[in-house]
Amino acid sequence: MALARFCSECGAPLPAPPPVTCQACDASHWLDAKPCAGALVTRAGKLLLVRRAHEPWRGAWDVPGGFCGPREHPREAAAREVREETALEVELDGILGMWIDSYAPLGPGADKVTLSIYFHARAPATGEAHGDPNDVAEIGWFAADELPEPLAFPGHLPAVLDAWRASQPEAPRAALVRPRSAAARKPEPIV
Ligand SMILES: [Zn+2]
Repeated sequence: MALARFCSECGAPLPAPPPVTCQACDASHWLDAKPCAGALVTRAGKLLLVRRAHEPWRGAWDVPGGFCGPREHPREAAAREVREETALEVELDGILGMWIDSYAPLGPGADKVTLSIYFHARAPATGEAHGDPNDVAEIGWFAADELPEPLAFPGHLPAVLDAWRASQPEAPRAALVRPRSAAARKPEPIV
């Protein structure tokens, strides 16, 4: 259901949700993407994910992150969100990438557009991750090939995790023992 919207300049009803121009007074009403930041936090090659305890996407796994404050740099927002959601102080590295998405599939957040900036980050070697149960239902560390489902924000989070996976060094495969070929073997000395 669309929310009733009125022009902030003249009070006339708007013909559509923003971005739209008021037909009564010609005022422009913008719709800007909201800047968000998140962190791909790793420890010993495993990725830190949190299961959301609230809507949207309640119960789904998410990268720790959230909305940036009005003058908060995305790097600071990413570190703050990790601290709030997991109690870990992380070291941020470079940017993994940026993605545009809708905030919510339905309801009041459905017309909110997000521009999310994701950073690589390293967790301290020790220290248990724990969060506010009202915010985070569960916290886990996952190897690149065993990421959980379902994922929150399906419009962009799978692409974020694909990019993260592609950025990781290939895990050593213990089962793959290459037999030395006969040609590579040194010839025995003949006596
Ligand atoms: Zn107006």
